[in-house]
Order: sequence, then C-alpha cells, then structure tokens
Amino acid sequence: MGLLKDKFAIVTGAASARGLGKATAKAFADHGATIAILDLDAGAAEAAAADLGHGHIGLACNVVDKTACEAAVERLIEAWGRVDVLVNNAGITQPLKIMEIAPENYDAVTDVNLRGTLYMSQAVIPSMRAQKSGAIVNLSSVSAQRGGGIFGGPHYSAAKAGVLGLTKAMARELAPDNVRVNSICPGFIATDITAGKLSEAQHRMVLDGIPMGRAGEASDVAGCALFLASDLSAYCTGTEVDVNGGSLI
Ligand code: NAD
Repeated sequence: MGLLKDKFAIVTGAASARGLGKATAKAFADHGATIAILDLDAGAAEAAAADLGHGHIGLACNVVDKTACEAAVERLIEAWGRVDVLVNNAGITQPLKIMEIAPENYDAVTDVNLRGTLYMSQAVIPSMRAQKSGAIVNLSSVSAQRGGGIFGGPHYSAAKAGVLGLTKAMARELAPDNVRVNSICPGFIATDITAGKLSEAQHRMVLDGIPMGRAGEASDVAGCALFLASDLSAYCTGTEVDVNGGSLI
C-alpha cells in the first residue's frame, strides 16, 4: 500500500528477533519506508536491517547514552537528509516487587525506558521541527495503566507511566511544528520479554484477564505503530492507544 512511501524511520531496540521493534520495522519497510534499526549490538542491528531487504541501516546505539543517540541520528541525517519517524521501542523490564527494587534496578529500568525515550526524541526533534513534520511513537505499557502485572515491577510501571507524561508534554510543545507524538500501551504480547517466563497456571490466569482470550502478536503492535507513524493519524497527537485485547474493559 505504501503508507510510508519515501519516509525515513528509526526504530530503537529492533534487533530482537521476535520483538515488537523488528515487527514494526518490517511493517514500515513493507509500506515503503527506509529503516534504521538501533540496538545495543552492532552486528545484531545490522543483521536485522539486512533481513528487511536492501538499503536499510543497522547501528549500535545505547539509548541511555545521549552522545550515542545524537551521533546515530547525525549519521542518519547525513545519509538520508531527514528523519520522518522515530519509534522509541527499546525497553527492559524486571519482575521485582516494591521492596526488592535496589537503586541499580530503578536506574536501569528508568534509564532505558524513559531516559532513552527522551534522549532519542531530543536527537531527532531539531530536524523534524525544521522540516515541519514528523511522527514520534513511544512504547509504554498496560503496566503503566494498571500498576504492573507479572512481568514488570513497580519501577517499570513508573517508567512507562513517565513515558505517557513525556509523550503528552512533547506532543503539546511540538504540535505547532506539525510534529506528532503518540504512545502505544501494549498488553500481553508474545515476545522475548514475555517468553518462557510464566508457568502454565500463570499463563492461564493472564489469558483469563484478556477478553479476546489470546496473547497479542508483535504484528498487532506493529499495525498500531504504522497507523501512528503514517498520515492515517495526521490529526492525532498526545494520544495513547491500547493494544491489549480488551484487558482494560
Ligand atoms: P524485547 O526484549 O524483545 O526487545 C527489546 C529490545 O530493546 C532488544 O532488542 C534489546 O537489545 C533492546 N535494548 C535494550 N536496552 C537497550 C538500550 N539501552 N539501547 C538500545 N536498545 C536496547 O522486547 P519487546 O517485547 O519487543 O518490547 C518492546 C517494547 O514494548 C519495550 O519498550 C517494552 O517495554 C514494551 N512492551 C512490551 C510488552 C510485551 O508484552 N512484549 C508489553 C508492553 C510493553
């Protein structure tokens, strides 16, 4: 269909084979975008970019490192001349309870999920503002909305709730320049973050809480990201879209 024809898009944390980022990158490439996959490991990022076909780029970038974020975006703007879409997908979780959260746990989870979203956004905003267009899509979580669950600890819920606040604040500030910022709140999606972490009984319990009765697929989230990245959502900014099979009904 070509919803992102001639667009240049960055997806962070998109090297994970079953992950939401890779599925999103594939959906974008299938719709005509040129993609940069940013992840911790250069080889994995390059391999994931190569899987998308010719002309896509894989780069090592730790989103917690502001200088690395700026350097990656600078390199992409040199190559492409512009960036149209940023998906802040890189994230980590730790299934801890409130009294188990040590300072280093708090720092690690908050850094990747929230600080990384800020730093990558700061890196692309000047060029998006100058070109008077852009779409930023941030991955939050149902954990932000309902206070955790089996996978994320309270620090994960807090970081992902921070992502929702950051999304709205950026959306408000950037709207006059036609730069849209939205977030996605996935529910229980089958990826490496969730794989093998549940007993049979826990899995049943999670599915019982989902009216649609199934775990989400990475492609379910990718479809939503495609909508928010493309002109189909041209008048949407500051929103959060639930992709959770009805978990919050
Ligand atoms: P995943 O673990 O499969 O992939 C995460 C990717 O982020 C990995 O490739 C990892 O290398 C990368 N990454 C981690 N730290 C990084 C850093 N500092 N810099 C750059 N890259 C880094 O995870 P996923 O399930 O695909 O989740 C993607 C996003 O969606 C995350 O933000 C996650 O919190 C969110 N989410 C997932 C679910 C789910 O059920 N899978 C639900 C709600 C929200």
